[in-house]
Amino acid sequence: MTQNIPEIYGSLVFNDRIMRSKLPKDMYKALKKTIENGTHLELDVANSVAVAMKEWAIENGATHYTHWFQPMTNVTAEKHDSFISPTGDGLVIMDFSGKELVKGEPDASSFPSGGLRATFEARGYTAWDPTSPAFIKDGTLYIPTAFCSYSGEALDKKTPLLRSMDTLNKAAVNMLHILGNKGIKHVSTTVGPEQEYFLVPKELYKERKDLVFCGRTLLGAPAPKGQEMEDHYFGTLKPKVAAYMHDLDVELWKLGIPAKTKHNEVAPAQHELAPVFDTTNVAVDHNQLTMEVMKKVADKHDLVCLLHEKPFEGINGSGKHNNWSMITDDGVNLLDPGKTPAENIQFLVFLMAVIKAVDEYADLLRISVASAGNDHRLGANEAPPAVVSIFLGDELTEVLKSIENDTYFTSHGAVQMDIGATVLPHFVKDNTDRNRTSPFAFTGNKFEFRMLGSAASVANPNIVLNTAVAEALDQFAKELADVAPEDMEHAVHELIKRAIKKHKRVIFNGNGYTDEWIEEAAKRGLYNLKSTPDAMPMWIADKNIELFTKHSIFTSEEIHSRYDIWLENYSKTINIESNTMVEMVQKDLLPSVLSYVEEIASTASLKASVVPGISCKSETTLITKLSQLSDAMTKGLEKLKADTARAKAAEDVLENAKLYQTEVLEDMEELRRSADEAETLIPDDLLPYPTYGKLLFYI
Ligand code: ADP
Ligand code: MG
Repeated sequence: MTQNIPEIYGSLVFNDRIMRSKLPKDMYKALKKTIENGTHLELDVANSVAVAMKEWAIENGATHYTHWFQPMTNVTAEKHDSFISPTGDGLVIMDFSGKELVKGEPDASSFPSGGLRATFEARGYTAWDPTSPAFIKDGTLYIPTAFCSYSGEALDKKTPLLRSMDTLNKAAVNMLHILGNKGIKHVSTTVGPEQEYFLVPKELYKERKDLVFCGRTLLGAPAPKGQEMEDHYFGTLKPKVAAYMHDLDVELWKLGIPAKTKHNEVAPAQHELAPVFDTTNVAVDHNQLTMEVMKKVADKHDLVCLLHEKPFEGINGSGKHNNWSMITDDGVNLLDPGKTPAENIQFLVFLMAVIKAVDEYADLLRISVASAGNDHRLGANEAPPAVVSIFLGDELTEVLKSIENDTYFTSHGAVQMDIGATVLPHFVKDNTDRNRTSPFAFTGNKFEFRMLGSAASVANPNIVLNTAVAEALDQFAKELADVAPEDMEHAVHELIKRAIKKHKRVIFNGNGYTDEWIEEAAKRGLYNLKSTPDAMPMWIADKNIELFTKHSIFTSEEIHSRYDIWLENYSKTINIESNTMVEMVQKDLLPSVLSYVEEIASTASLKASVVPGISCKSETTLITKLSQLSDAMTKGLEKLKADTARAKAAEDVLENAKLYQTEVLEDMEELRRSADEAETLIPDDLLPYPTYGKLLFYI
């Protein structure tokens, strides 16, 4: 383990250093301008960059390039083209043009488009995103791209994300100028996604159809031990896991992904990785890449990395924490309270904008993390409830209260601030508060959105967050636009006073896992959108369509197409789960149970023939119990099959999804109960699949 980390870090990335060394000066400058200010890229610059990229890629062993994009699945897509170009004399040269760099035309008919593009006119195109660096993986040069239809409709997650970053940038810069901070030219959003995952032995994984087809177990009695000892969280790493994590870090570092923190998580076999934060676009790409590399490295270690939100019943599932903030081009974190009263004003305006955004668009934030997998976690006392609320901590809550009520603000140190009633309090940031149960927590200089599931792209939540905060800032800007500089502090005070009165219902510093909070939240009128089918109708609510169209994030057609894709994905997921469960019970578990019954029955009759009148109590008890269970399974199978067929046949996407949620999932739970009980009664060597005990503890 003597790698020179600074040397290998980013060695597979076409980064700034490489660009500077490979590009003519004027071309480098033009490209930098495009990256930093989003200006249009001229073809001669693109050509020059293409040549440099190709040379660098070939030097590093690449033979192919691909436009790498993020269709509306949770995974990325790629199609590899080699650099070869025949010269007509039986030879080839390695060729790559600016046109090929900037634009691609994948035959894209089979990606979900929600009816945006009929399959017979399948032409979509990919467009280079120069703000996210190209990289080499497995002999191919990867070029991050956005994916659109020919008429310019977004067919991916990157396009709306870039649009939302742009919108927030404009709104934030405008606000900073209003507040007198005229030098700021650009505001970026930053994201640091903490990623949870499970590791299981590969040979056991392969014996579980549910893991192979669904990524989660559909059956399985609890292991003798779960997470009750609380001995796994931050525990010593097992050597196999440590070796995996080391290799993973190295692979990520080569790709310029700043993997920083790794540790064991709460559930057995569960772990976490967190990178250092980056601009949102890069962080989203890096998180996609991280998930992919996690799986690949696991395979080399004879492990399988599970990214499903709920791979095992009875222990914690996996989430992802989206740490989010905004940063100016001169490096100021806008959610950092700062040290001077002026910085405090700025901070309070941006803080209040986030509070307003989360209160007004809590439904969209909830939807942004909605999936069949994540529905198992939210509200199950292992992850935040489906109710979106904000944790601010005592100190900040006090600050806002003092503004609301025109009272003096007393800081923790009991220092009475020397301020009048109508100017803003000056306070220092307090980092000590921690609340792990809040879905949206202020953590000193950033917000941590904790409702995300482990498997999903982090693009959606950030699209919503950026857009909603931009909208809040725009509204505030209207209120402050004509205020003279000397009246600004007073005007901000009044603005925050109005806003906090209106939006304080979304602030909750207590324990988010309790039933009392859910009741209280209902009284406060907060949304509690428990499942994906419950939540999705809000995606197409007027106020939300208005938000997205106003800021040019999505057109109304794009919103409706995403609604269809989202619900179809939900229904298809549960349909696959239902099919898998039917197969496992019908073809694997039931036959095992019946063979065991046969074995016991012949034991009993053999015993009786040797010793007439001997007690066969244990045999008869077991046979009776197992036949009850197999009858229950048979009945459960029939019901599950019938309800699944009915759910599948429903005409409307929402109706489909609702039937899968209310009927199919319940049937699956019911069938699981008898199956899992049968599992506990038959010997391991007759069990058709490995137990939870082996999956979770045998690494
Ligand atoms: P936790 O207590 O939740 O483990 P950490 O301080 O370890 O929090 O940070 C978690 C993540 O937050 C890391 O990925 C870190 O890089 C990221 N982070 C820190 N500051 C910011 C910021 N200003 N914007 C976005 N993410 C940030
Ligand atoms: Mg965290």
